[in-house]
Amino acid sequence: VGGELRFSEFFSHGAGLTTSLDALLHCEHSGIQHICVVQSPVFGRMLLLDGMVMLTEWDEFIYHEMLVHPALFLLPFPRKVLVIGGGDGGTVREVLRHPSIEHVDLVEIDPRVIAVAQSYFPTVAAGFSDPRVHLHHADGAEFVRSAPSGFYDAVFVDSTDPTGIAESLFGEAFYSECQRVLHATGVLALQSESPLHPVYCQTLPRVHRLLRPLFRHVASYLASIPTYPTGMWSFTLASRHYHPLEDFSPTDAQQRIERLSGKLRYYTAELHRAAFALPGFVQELISEGLAQPAP
Ligand code: SAM
Repeated sequence: VGGELRFSEFFSHGAGLTTSLDALLHCEHSGIQHICVVQSPVFGRMLLLDGMVMLTEWDEFIYHEMLVHPALFLLPFPRKVLVIGGGDGGTVREVLRHPSIEHVDLVEIDPRVIAVAQSYFPTVAAGFSDPRVHLHHADGAEFVRSAPSGFYDAVFVDSTDPTGIAESLFGEAFYSECQRVLHATGVLALQSESPLHPVYCQTLPRVHRLLRPLFRHVASYLASIPTYPTGMWSFTLASRHYHPLEDFSPTDAQQRIERLSGKLRYYTAELHRAAFALPGFVQELISEGLAQPAP
């Protein structure tokens, strides 16, 4: 009684994020993972899975805009989209901003994440009630195996870290299924962890090693997400057809941005180009990883 409530997430040896809390709003074990919602004076409401920050009201727009819009503005007319993971709804919300979208499949292994997001993050999860959105409570790796070939214009992998239930979403078999279910001009975009993380920094080169044999163009880009481990985050985009910069028209994207539903707060046509300019150490991390034999 009278003690201060705090949340901390350490990514290694006591290094990480901490905040005082105004309230602990929800906590349950879904049978798959711990799901908690806490209220922070600075970060707003926070969704935690197994004690790790998935989203905060304060900075979720950065992650969701940067996972979705580089891919969708590369496509002239995206219609059918597959989202793997993404049970909080932020990725679906960003996809639905594009007027050409006709069909979204959201494949989330834990239905309780969707339910908690709808209760505590209504503005993030609003897209789930859109008639174009079809929710599937399934393992994403299994779902893609039975999905039709060439069906999707874009596939987004918005998963937790490459361990446990999400490990299958970072494997060769999964990526080749993603390539199969994508249209020949389709685009895959995924969160590829932090290049500064002491352990998960190896995800980025591993993703390149697995995607390059499947896609002609594979490129990573960065965004700063202050509440994720280290604050520096990477995404990786892959396509058999489109190059993320050579086939991107900033003027076309700028015009389309004006026609989106709602206002973007992070992604811009100029930022699209800048984000793919990688720091030297990240380029090295990728090229060194590519030089190593696949494990
Ligand atoms: N933006 C967050 C990040 O970068 O860590 C991810 C947010 S979203 C809440 C991650 C979702 O992936 C979780 O709801 C989790 O249940 C889901 N997930 C994990 N493994 C999965 C799998 N194999 N198939 C489908 N969904 C999965």
